[in-house]
Amino acid sequence: MHLNKISLRGFRNYVNLELDFAPGVNLIVGDNAQGKTNLLEAISYLGSGKSFRAQKTGEMVGFGAEFADLEGEIFAQERNQSVRWVLFPGKPRLLYRNGARKKSAADVAGLLPAVLFCPEDLMVLKAGAAQRRRFGDHALCALRPNYDAALAEYNRILEQKTRILKDKEENIAVLAILPEYNARLCQVGALLISYRARFYDSLGKAAARYHGQFSGGLEDFSLQYKTVSTVTDPFAPIEILRKQLEEHLESHYRAELSSLQCLTGPHKDDFDVTLNGISLKAYGSQGQTRTAAISLKLAQRELMAREWGEEPILLLDDVLSELDAKRQDFVLNQIDKGQVFITCCEPGRFTKLGKTIEIKEGQLKE
Ligand code: ATP
Ligand code: MG
Repeated sequence: MHLNKISLRGFRNYVNLELDFAPGVNLIVGDNAQGKTNLLEAISYLGSGKSFRAQKTGEMVGFGAEFADLEGEIFAQERNQSVRWVLFPGKPRLLYRNGARKKSAADVAGLLPAVLFCPEDLMVLKAGAAQRRRFGDHALCALRPNYDAALAEYNRILEQKTRILKDKEENIAVLAILPEYNARLCQVGALLISYRARFYDSLGKAAARYHGQFSGGLEDFSLQYKTVSTVTDPFAPIEILRKQLEEHLESHYRAELSSLQCLTGPHKDDFDVTLNGISLKAYGSQGQTRTAAISLKLAQRELMAREWGEEPILLLDDVLSELDAKRQDFVLNQIDKGQVFITCCEPGRFTKLGKTIEIKEGQLKE
């Protein structure tokens, strides 16, 4: 599956643009503020009907334009297909697939799945646990709809339990229903841990392979999933995990009552990355942190490809800076599976695996 061509009219700073893409790597080069990220946004919008940066649809409509018209020619399901979106400020959008009107993004689901890596993702390994959990959950939810459902349920119970802890200040009788909520939290929590153990194991192994190639074999990447301390083996049967979660909850019963917070459970999970046995979070350099974060994204894409039989397209926004020549070469010339879009500001970069597209003021630079 890949995007052969895109046409943009009135989309952000693109008044009128037609672009052909290579099925391999497409390197999009241009100075700051010329429209590189806008182009990635358009590509990702085609398949998802979602923008990774706009708060409102109207923001994507070019200044002075009445609507934005985006059309993509996609090779998917062994034939050429077209997807077209017409976006209006403050009015419902229109969607067409192969020329026929469609109702919702679900009608184009799976045509052009994408994995995006943006500059904010570079810091995921240095950031707080919540950001890493979000990264892991986002990837795992896309892979496993049952996990997605279990996570939503866990969060619902957690919210209700938090309300009970707060309400007890006013009415101590509500504590009578706490054990029921704790039991459900441990039941669903055990399921989450079981999914996560398997997911982080596969993700870590794939990322280690990418990081090894990326660093020219210099850095040995390892990922450790961290969960509730009473869990001795996250791969253990659900029933054992459930009991171990209950143990931890019981030992925190008083602390939860006095802090009015849910202190224990997989909602505090995290993962650690080490390079050659040294913590990346504490000691990693900028380049090492970037390399590891990109390797994780490549691994995520590989797991999706294993599931669906094909690589989602990969959108890499501005990842080359602070990487040395060898690591830049890996990004530009060694990601040889599926279609890749890479933006960069430095002129003179090129890729052996596809084509270079130069953008200036929302136009193709000849
Ligand atoms: P950088 O290298 O700095 O990341 P970039 O090439 O990725 O730059 P973009 O984020 O794609 O740049 O944005 C390019 C320009 O598009 C910005 O100057 C912005 O003002 C402009 N722009 C954003 N939205 C619209 C819009 N709705 N209509 C017209 N121009 C817009
Ligand atoms: Mg940009």
